[in-house]
Amino acid sequence: MKCFNHEADAIGICKHCQRAICKDCCTDLGFGLACKDTHESDVSMLNSLIENNKRAYESQPKATMFGPLFFIFMGLVFSYFGYQKGLDNLSFIIGVGFIVYGIAIFVYNKLFFKKVTTEYET
Ligand SMILES: [Zn+2]
Ligand SMILES: [Zn+2]
Repeated sequence: MKCFNHEADAIGICKHCQRAICKDCCTDLGFGLACKDTHESDVSMLNSLIENNKRAYESQPKATMFGPLFFIFMGLVFSYFGYQKGLDNLSFIIGVGFIVYGIAIFVYNKLFFKKVTTEYET
């Protein structure tokens, strides 16, 4: 494999333009090679994009816990105030509905993420 610019042997491929580049033409950014003075910023941008996506994905299980907990909390508030007025009160029914809905999402998320992690491990 020869360098795109020279006759010299290439040592790697630019992460941005996928061209083979030699030692003199590349900048090692630590996580990949880039064409010197041209694609350095593109490659670092690409890399930070991937890093951000990875971080967003990793924090997802925690984020999905917030939804069901919110519904269960709201359900408790509604049903508490509804309960004081009588069991056939509308806000009590709504409250119970919220709790059931919250638990349903919670269980669904737990099953879903369990599946994802086991698939990832194998
Ligand atoms: Zn070169
Ligand atoms: Zn390049």
